[in-house]
Amino acid sequence: MQRDSLTYTEETLDPSDWSANKALGVEMVNDMMQFLQTVRDRATWQPPSERAKQHFNAGIPFDGMALEKVYDEFKQYILPFPTGNIHPRFWGWVMGNGSSSAMLADMLASGINLNQGGGNQMGGRVETQVINWFKKLFGFPDAASGLVVSGGSMANLIGITVARFVKADFDLRKEGVYGSKKRMLVYASSEVHNCTNKAVELLGLGSDSLRLIPVNDQYEMDLDALAVQIKKDRESGMQPFCIVGNAVTVNTGAVDDLNAIADICEKENLWFHVDGAIGAMLALSEKYHHVIKGMERADSIAFDLHKWMYIPYEAGCILVRKGMQHYQTFSMHADYLAHEDRGVAAGDIWFSDYGVELSRGFKALKIWMSMKEHGIKKFGRLVTQNVEQVQYLKALVVANKKLELLAPAPMNILCFRYIIASKNEEQLNALNKELLLRLHESGVAVPSYTVLHGKYALRVANTNHRTQREDFDVLINKVIELGDDLVEEKK
Ligand SMILES: *Cc1c(COP(=O)(O)O)cnc(C)c1O
Repeated sequence: MQRDSLTYTEETLDPSDWSANKALGVEMVNDMMQFLQTVRDRATWQPPSERAKQHFNAGIPFDGMALEKVYDEFKQYILPFPTGNIHPRFWGWVMGNGSSSAMLADMLASGINLNQGGGNQMGGRVETQVINWFKKLFGFPDAASGLVVSGGSMANLIGITVARFVKADFDLRKEGVYGSKKRMLVYASSEVHNCTNKAVELLGLGSDSLRLIPVNDQYEMDLDALAVQIKKDRESGMQPFCIVGNAVTVNTGAVDDLNAIADICEKENLWFHVDGAIGAMLALSEKYHHVIKGMERADSIAFDLHKWMYIPYEAGCILVRKGMQHYQTFSMHADYLAHEDRGVAAGDIWFSDYGVELSRGFKALKIWMSMKEHGIKKFGRLVTQNVEQVQYLKALVVANKKLELLAPAPMNILCFRYIIASKNEEQLNALNKELLLRLHESGVAVPSYTVLHGKYALRVANTNHRTQREDFDVLINKVIELGDDLVEEKK
């Protein structure tokens, strides 16, 4: 053999200089810790600069550059322009804040980069333990199962998928929607989050198969209307199979009467699914856990950890009361994925048998580490704190003649607006919309918006462990200032 043919080069992505790489890693950790520590000193949000936007039009990087330089680009063009949800005065939509320790856990998870689809590795035990803890916390039996997922949307999809599989009176996995002689229906209040609509559509049922039941003046599902609708649908030859109960709605923070819905599901032989994306965490609060009473009777519970448990994105979870039904809905066996008794392909639980994804990241680690570091009691106190802060805000709104509360705000979500007698509804809507945009641009605070009975509302959803009561004084002062300015300008 010619010597020449042996001189080939092989490459790897490992750094050529490990000590420089380690030093840069330490610098990044320090920078991010500093970023978190000083978050209160910065604007809640600022618009991305034109220069930063332009930067991302550059062409494909065929040849590499020093990691230090890439990191500089991150610091210049990405770091200053996030959504702002880690800031103490961010209350838009429903967003969590993350924490420095969960950030570190994410780094550890990426470092070991194990595949949480299955196999004989320790990550599976961690996820199982996290799921077991939530089973206990939510009053679910040992035979329940669960899966850590990307968020509430995926969790609700999985719950409703299991519901349909269990309630179908034909071989659903084989025949799909074609096996159904009757239209299969899901019921939820008109306030249900639209990920339930998405789930119903994705399951091929069609949006007509989601019956949106009207709400009462507390924005809770009208149970009489629900009963009437179920009866009517049965009489016309359709098959109701699932009711979705809301534990804290996204618009106004309402909680459906979960116990009553559980009764109806029992009586009607329907699957009881709870969308607890926000509100399941009330189970941790000594003071407010009674609000979601009845959730423990659900057949499945979807909940988010990146909202009211403050875990960094992404983290949600689904629990199913009868684990075997969960497994039967999703398990699939292929020769290349056979589970062995020994070796790497062993392992008791293959999470890929409980959901959509095969390859999965180790999201469970940041949840596990956070629960252990802080303890569940602390999360319970923070949930209580967030509710009471919003009740404080409610008192500020109610006491101010220039402000109007637009919905009851029983929990951690509050909708209000600036009002002035000289303006009609249409003008008030325009005024409050402009007010909100100016508030965002001011960098002082970020609520979001919704529309309630035709009224444009500023909407505060508090799942923020950094918020202090005074932050709501700052919010109210700024809203009044901006509202007064707008009234003055329009004169
Ligand atoms: C946020 C939310 C969802 C969707 O959860 P994601 O984590 O955003 O996918 C579902 N239901 C409710 C009530 C929510 O607030």
